[in-house]
Amino acid sequence: MRRGILLIISGPSGVGKGTVSKALLEGSGGNMVFSVSATTRDPRPGEMHGREYFFVTKEEFDRMIDDGEFLEYMHVFGRNYYGTPKKYVMDQLEMGHDVLLDIDVNGAMKVKENCPEAIALMLAPPTMKELRRRLETRGTEEQPVIERRLAEAKSELSRMKEYDFVVVNDDLDAAIEQCRNIVECCKHTPDYCVDFVNTLIDEDF
Ligand code: ADP
Ligand code: 5GP
Repeated sequence: MRRGILLIISGPSGVGKGTVSKALLEGSGGNMVFSVSATTRDPRPGEMHGREYFFVTKEEFDRMIDDGEFLEYMHVFGRNYYGTPKKYVMDQLEMGHDVLLDIDVNGAMKVKENCPEAIALMLAPPTMKELRRRLETRGTEEQPVIERRLAEAKSELSRMKEYDFVVVNDDLDAAIEQCRNIVECCKHTPDYCVDFVNTLIDEDF
């Protein structure tokens, strides 16, 4: 069985990571799973515990750190903690499922340190005005939080070169298609195919 692809999607808040991720997962026929992070932030309307996030208290989050349950964790936007559960991600990859992480830039690079085979994809907005429009239209944050997230956006984008791929999320369907193509291409690299080819070499004619 081939291991799955570990796909990290990051980019500024409001760029469309959640929207693109949802489409990739729905279009994968169950072959791609989402790594549900733990967070100490409050759920947004419509968010469900165990679906978008595991919503935990700071005390519970600290316990998870102490017990080594995170592949990486991060204090994001000066307030909340977010962390990627290690066991779930590793088990799913081992089962041959692709795993999608929607995490911030620092978290992405930590994951790449621990799992160099991970594919890091930066989602960029078509314009900064459009980024503001999307954040304001989503309407899930108060204005000061939106301003803080916009202030972060340029420094996040400036780390683009640390990524393997960049997709501009202008037309949504085009961006989804480009992300799908990237995942498909990554399944044809020698690194990804090496175990399979080695079994061929060991086979009798
Ligand atoms: P993120 O997860 O990066 O914070 P979301 O996926 O929540 O961003 O998207 C932010 C807002 O932008 C949502 O209201 C979403 O419907 C909208 N959106 C996402 N992609 C596009 C796009 N390509 N064109 C227009 N609006 C978009
Ligand atoms: P939001 O609060 O909008 O859901 O997410 C805020 C930021 O936290 C986004 O950039 C998102 O990608 C990031 N994030 C979500 N989960 C994790 C995680 O487990 N680890 C890290 N490092 N960042 C995360």
